[in-house]
Amino acid sequence: MANSSPSRPIYIPNQISDPNYIRIFDTTLRDGEQAPGAALNGKQKLDIAKSLAKLGVDIIEAGFPSSSKDDFEAVRIIAKEVGNLIDENGYVPVICGMARCTRADIDMAWEALKWAKRPRVLTFIATSEIHMKYKLRKTKEQVLQIVREMVSYAKSLGFVDIEFGAEDAARSEMEFLCQVFSESLKGGATTLCVADTVGNLLPTEFEEFIAAVKANTPGIDNAVISAHCHNDLGQASSSAITGAIAGARQLEVTINGVGERAGNASLEEDGVLKHRSTYEILSPEDIGLARSSEPAFVLGKLSGRNGLKSRLSKLGYELDNELDDIFQRFKAAAAKNKYLSDDDIKALVSNENFQPQVCWSLGDVQVTCGISGLSTATVKLIGVDGTEHVASSVGKGFIDASYKAIDLIVKLPVTLVECSTNSVSKGTEAIASTKVVVQEEKIHKSTQTSNNGLNAPCTFSETSEGTDIIASSILAYLSALNKVMSSSGIP
Ligand code: MN
Repeated sequence: MANSSPSRPIYIPNQISDPNYIRIFDTTLRDGEQAPGAALNGKQKLDIAKSLAKLGVDIIEAGFPSSSKDDFEAVRIIAKEVGNLIDENGYVPVICGMARCTRADIDMAWEALKWAKRPRVLTFIATSEIHMKYKLRKTKEQVLQIVREMVSYAKSLGFVDIEFGAEDAARSEMEFLCQVFSESLKGGATTLCVADTVGNLLPTEFEEFIAAVKANTPGIDNAVISAHCHNDLGQASSSAITGAIAGARQLEVTINGVGERAGNASLEEDGVLKHRSTYEILSPEDIGLARSSEPAFVLGKLSGRNGLKSRLSKLGYELDNELDDIFQRFKAAAAKNKYLSDDDIKALVSNENFQPQVCWSLGDVQVTCGISGLSTATVKLIGVDGTEHVASSVGKGFIDASYKAIDLIVKLPVTLVECSTNSVSKGTEAIASTKVVVQEEKIHKSTQTSNNGLNAPCTFSETSEGTDIIASSILAYLSALNKVMSSSGIP
């Protein structure tokens, strides 16, 4: 090992010049960047690509050119600069870009990659029953035709190095998968990527899987089989290695180690919505856990319109025209709160379309808190006509007492769904943020249409911040009540 570094065989895309050589395909810049929270700018990508070239990786997957202008530009620059760095031994990395099986994607990939000495496109399509049915909504015949046409199309543009990737290959029907691979080879594919997209195969199973692909794909002899493993079961590295034992001659890895899970595109915007099992390999029920009636994943700022729409429909809201507005509102709220619960979502719908009129404002409040006894609150509210109303109540704590006192004056049939207080800063003068969610009872079922025009009960939320926790919690509740009244035409 020490005395001779193995020489790199001559690079010919569709030829295995040395049967013992395994090509290393690094996808840090593509799959790695799809890890949740990861984001690299063009300069960082170029630096990483240069380092990968220094490490001597055979193929650098530089990005997904059609995914954004920035990514297109990053791939183009990497192709131009790193894709032309030829060392004294003649090594120059192949620069690869990902493309869906569409003309537009493949065109973009060519425009970005053609500057490299050795450009490669990785064009992919899902081949599992579940992905074809729920994600692509395509039949087997359609998938075969797309593969045939798009691989040939890539070749017609000038790509001589074409990797065809079967997404979710590991859950595909073997006979069909081999048929797809065979079609891609006829079109000009030189590398076949077998993706264990959701990481559901154990290493021994992956080994058998690769062996089966090798044995059953007509025309595969000169093609390189590539193993793309994910780490969902903690087995990605082992699977990549058993894949190599079975004949894979390219391993797709990230910079953090062979097969280290690089992550996938954000779950909530893809396949999971169309059908849960497209990306979820074990359901909670499989391991004896009840699936929560709460959503399977939380809606947050990276959630897409479909995620929101699907949640709304579960909650009883079928919205089309209003969806854009609610989506904007949702994004704004998610940017502040990170995750939104069902109650938050309902409140978002209810809060649509109107600015609450201030029916009641806070005149004064006095609370007495006790450790052993009950807390009491006296609240003075001022109505729209300027009249003052005072009420007192006891309660379990000052919030309970003051909300009861407010109820005595406002007399609205609402249920308090949530009241939570968070400290925003530290210390005794910390700013407290209080969030209140209320749901109206039968306030306008009979005579009026509720604000959202639907059957679901309206929910309203309000957040108030201040250094005085008592004032902020009372103001939050009062504002929520004002919303209820405004929406239902009171006063
Ligand atoms: Mn992947």
